Amino acid sequence: LLSPTGSLGVTIFEEITNLAVKHQAINLGQGFPDTDGPQVFKDIAARGVSGDLNQYAPGAGIPALRQAISDHQKRFYDLDVNPANEVVVTTGATEAIAAAILAFVNPGDEVITFEPFYDSYGAAIGLAGGTHKTVALNAPDFQPDIEALRSAFSERTRLVVLNNPHNPTGTTFGKKLLAEIVALAMAHDCIIISDEVYEHLTFGVSHIPIATLPGAWDRTLTISSTGKTFSFTGWKVGWATGPAELVAAVRSVKQFLSYSSGTAFQPAVAEALAADTGFFSDFANDLGERSEVLAQGLEAAGMTVYRPQGTYFIVADVAPLGFDNALELARQMPEMIGVAGIPLSVFCHEDGAERTRTLMRFAFCKKRELLTEASQRLSKLV
Ligand code: PMP
Ligand code: GLN
Repeated sequence: LLSPTGSLGVTIFEEITNLAVKHQAINLGQGFPDTDGPQVFKDIAARGVSGDLNQYAPGAGIPALRQAISDHQKRFYDLDVNPANEVVVTTGATEAIAAAILAFVNPGDEVITFEPFYDSYGAAIGLAGGTHKTVALNAPDFQPDIEALRSAFSERTRLVVLNNPHNPTGTTFGKKLLAEIVALAMAHDCIIISDEVYEHLTFGVSHIPIATLPGAWDRTLTISSTGKTFSFTGWKVGWATGPAELVAAVRSVKQFLSYSSGTAFQPAVAEALAADTGFFSDFANDLGERSEVLAQGLEAAGMTVYRPQGTYFIVADVAPLGFDNALELARQMPEMIGVAGIPLSVFCHEDGAERTRTLMRFAFCKKRELLTEASQRLSKLV
């Protein structure tokens, strides 16, 4: 199957995870925690399975979860979201992203993303027949050049997709940049998709949903999911919120992707979203500490490290170790030293791949002892 972004093939996450399993390497590649979220939420899901939550859920999600998503947006961001028609539950953020892009993009429409970009954006834009334009996020701070951002917009721009906090760079977008994006979207009458799956995983900075900016709500679809915030990446429950018209379009497409999403998990996610505010901040603080454990380990191993403001990920440059191609190194590392990472170039088109050729992404959503062991193994790269 060919798309304008090339063969969809096998994702880098699957490729590197397979290598990590084969060589029993520490997997700092694919972003998933090695500790599950709270047992109390697992018990709710288990009760659903042993009880009567084993048939299709309503297409838009069970009412209790839609209400919980609405309550969450009010509690954290003071956003008023009508649970009846401004929320749709999806099979992970991945389905929300695909459904939204398929809903809004017609062949020939232009879609702007920042680069590096999460892999599913490029694939979904390709499947929709859209033209993918990118705006570079470069080290050290991974913030876009505003002139480059402005000149990416044209009369054919249909959609701008942002990811804040940003995978893979760990950067976050502040109010000024978000306001610029809103102004450009308004001027070019385009829709904003904001992927905020790491909304609760920021370290020392506050997350600002773009939908909270003046003028943004009417044209913004915000996406999040259970995976990262609650450490249940395998549950694949996500959601999109926004004005009824945009949500209705996503619901229409979702009908033909999955129809509905994991019934037994939905009450558990509803409860999780209602957790004490301390749950969210404790997890972010702990994760921030672990990011620092890995940052210091990577520095001790001789890499240049770009500390993240959020997400599960840290970017490091392997050039100081004498390697000039992180993709090749990522394919060798599991066997060579028993550690897996993801090269940044796979989140890029050709030019971006060249700019990020020696950068590697490492996941720190792992136990401290594992991060320390991985750092020791990485120090053998020199
Ligand atoms: N967007 C980004 C930026 C991600 O890193 C991920 C990976 N979790 C997803 C979307 C997909 O989320 P989900 O697993 O909920 O489909
Ligand atoms: N979001 C995860 C990451 O960036 C991967 C999810 C997947 O394997 N598609 O590592």
